[in-house]
Amino acid sequence: MAKCTLCNTKKSKRLCPVINEYICPECCGSKRGVEINCAPECSFYVQCKRRENEKAIGKLVKESFNDEYNDLFKDERVVNVAGPFELYIFENYYNDIRVKDNNIYQCLLKMYYTLDGQGDIYTFDEFETELFNKFKEVVKQENTPVELQKTIILRLMKSIEQVTGGIFGNRNYMEMLRGQFTHTGRMGGMFL
Ligand SMILES: [Zn+2]
Repeated sequence: MAKCTLCNTKKSKRLCPVINEYICPECCGSKRGVEINCAPECSFYVQCKRRENEKAIGKLVKESFNDEYNDLFKDERVVNVAGPFELYIFENYYNDIRVKDNNIYQCLLKMYYTLDGQGDIYTFDEFETELFNKFKEVVKQENTPVELQKTIILRLMKSIEQVTGGIFGNRNYMEMLRGQFTHTGRMGGMFL
């Protein structure tokens, strides 16, 4: 195996689509996005960037909206978007048990970073496309600025993060939506 074009010491294993040469994993990792202006054609770059984003947004979700007395959901501009969007999720996917809370979380994550200008590293499947289209439809009606759209998405991710997983199960956010919109089900009493 030929030596890495960049360091000329290690074995080159990865084709770098930017410099169009084979390079070693070490150079790929250390120069990624630093000395090499990586492109979305590179699967190593895309995987790495997605992992970084997931970590970063998870931290942001945890650290944001922790003041319950200043809840964003008291803002009409937020409710006018989040309300119809969450109702859409409940009406279309509550009965589809293949859709777990985390599927919605992952879709919101992609939506967030797409609005952040990083859409080139994500692909949306059919379910995710439907969800994003609905969101776009609502924010268009409400004339919501992009920064506020991102904040709303983050707040919805917070809702999911707070109620899902562990003893609550992986569809507890769905249950919360049911409670919120129909006052029935396991969590119906919360919203009376
Ligand atoms: Zn190298």
